[in-house]
Amino acid sequence: MMFEKLALVGIGLIGSSIARAARLKGLARTIAISTRRQETLDEARALGLGDSYERDPAEAVRGADLVILCTPVGAYGAVMQQIAGALAPGAILSDVGSVKQHVVKALAPLVPEGVHFIPGHPIAGTEHSGPAAGVAELFVGRWCVLTPGPQAEAAAVGRLEAFWSALGSNVECMSAEHHDLVLAITSHVPHLVAYNIVGTVADLEADTQSEVVKFSASGFRDFTRIAASDPVMWRDIFLTNRDAVLEMLGRFLEDLARLQRMVRVGDGAGLEALFTRTRAIRRSIISVGQDTAAADFGRPHPGEPADAAAAVEPPDGSERAD
Ligand code: NAP
Repeated sequence: MMFEKLALVGIGLIGSSIARAARLKGLARTIAISTRRQETLDEARALGLGDSYERDPAEAVRGADLVILCTPVGAYGAVMQQIAGALAPGAILSDVGSVKQHVVKALAPLVPEGVHFIPGHPIAGTEHSGPAAGVAELFVGRWCVLTPGPQAEAAAVGRLEAFWSALGSNVECMSAEHHDLVLAITSHVPHLVAYNIVGTVADLEADTQSEVVKFSASGFRDFTRIAASDPVMWRDIFLTNRDAVLEMLGRFLEDLARLQRMVRVGDGAGLEALFTRTRAIRRSIISVGQDTAAADFGRPHPGEPADAAAAVEPPDGSERAD
């Protein structure tokens, strides 16, 4: 047992995956679950995700030595107002939010003396939401970034690192600022591009739209998976990581203008050189084990042996996002 009581505030995809994995690995003697709506709490209870279930997050965190916030980041301030007075001295308070500087700004002033505040972000997920979407294997082989501030106690950071390692993650510590910049280009801007392409299609006249859906077996289909990600979570990411996203978006737009020019002037050599570089990036992602080398992301195709697809599919059958 690493922890006596783990409290999860928010029990959607990420919270329920932590609950499942922590239970499987025996990382906490008891798991307390809290969520905003009664129907989500009932669903979590029916799935047997915890040992106690509370609508009131203060009740869930009382006596917990590890508390992890797993709600959209936009809700953190209000949640923290509710739990601050109930956090036990010596407890570790962490989170899984996809942005980190905003989280530090919103939470740090409210963290009581004696509570170890160590923000975190597991870079793992899918486009699905809710308690039933979680899987115990979600974090296996994925990175979890921790962004402890300079005041964080090394022993507490070590305990949280050990927790995420036990869930199967590779753990790395960095500053919140660096995290937000890296994630802006690896995750946030790609989502913005996908939302934009799919949004453009949605605006096309009805005839063209049906053609797009009909022929969506090519690149467009892959964008629709990303653009199906949770609207509230992604709204909050763009509202709270604005500066880093705008910085990376500026670079992206400059590069897009260069590409536009290559197409206009027929610069075949330039296009080929770029596409050769990007293909190498794809290969390096596969070689470090962050994706499958199987064709078409390992999607099952008619006539293929079922276990060939299963061997490369993530546990819940969907691809990973963050
Ligand atoms: P999710 O499946 O939609 O679950 C969200 C949970 O937060 C639910 O328990 C929900 O409660 C609760 N919640 C929603 N709005 C709330 C509010 N205003 N106040 C209090 N509770 C609220 O979300 P998720 O995908 O697990 O994402 C949770 C966090 O993980 C986010 O901060 C996100 O940035 C981060 N994250 C997500 C991914 C991903 O791929 N999805 C990956 C890495 C990190 P009710 O159902 O009871 O309303």
